Amino acid sequence: MEKYRGIKFNVENLKKEAPRNPKIQRLKYWCKIFDKYNFAPPYENGSCGNLSFRLKPKTDQFIITGSRIGLKSNLKPECFVKVCACDLKKKKVYAMGIKEPSSESIMHWAIYNKRKDVGAIFHGHGPEILSQAKRLKIPTTKKQMPYGSVGLVKSVLEILKNNNFLIMKNHGFIALGKNMEEAGKLTMEIYKNCVVK
Ligand SMILES: [Zn+2]
Repeated sequence: MEKYRGIKFNVENLKKEAPRNPKIQRLKYWCKIFDKYNFAPPYENGSCGNLSFRLKPKTDQFIITGSRIGLKSNLKPECFVKVCACDLKKKKVYAMGIKEPSSESIMHWAIYNKRKDVGAIFHGHGPEILSQAKRLKIPTTKKQMPYGSVGLVKSVLEILKNNNFLIMKNHGFIALGKNMEEAGKLTMEIYKNCVVK
């Protein structure tokens, strides 16, 4: 298995300052829930889950958890990073923050870019959900792809057109919602179906 080796894109840090936004409070809440239900155990020995929300309807800017922060309760302001823009071809992310943005930032950006109805993206590696994906017929990408890769982004974009919940093969899940509450509740609903015997 490929080892986690940090982010795979270049970050241009436009401002070394933690983003400020009242909605970060809700993002922190969902990070706590992800930790509580073990939705964010490390993947490839490093990357945990990553959660984000879109800043304004007609832009693709968002606030996301930082790289290697480990989701837990009461994350500090510097654990969140604003992604201002992405260049998929150059594999470049323009960000504002103290830390580096999550290793899956390019994927979050590509989803916001494609699905304008989506206001929040939650990604985790919960083993219960992954193991029950087949039984629950959750849409799943065909092939395992390296995390943070353009190939992974493309395979996800192919199936998220009509789905708000999907599995990246042998990796994790992605939940989409028009806002954080919707993405979070959808994750909890699926999780409950997974643990029911
Ligand atoms: Zn992941």
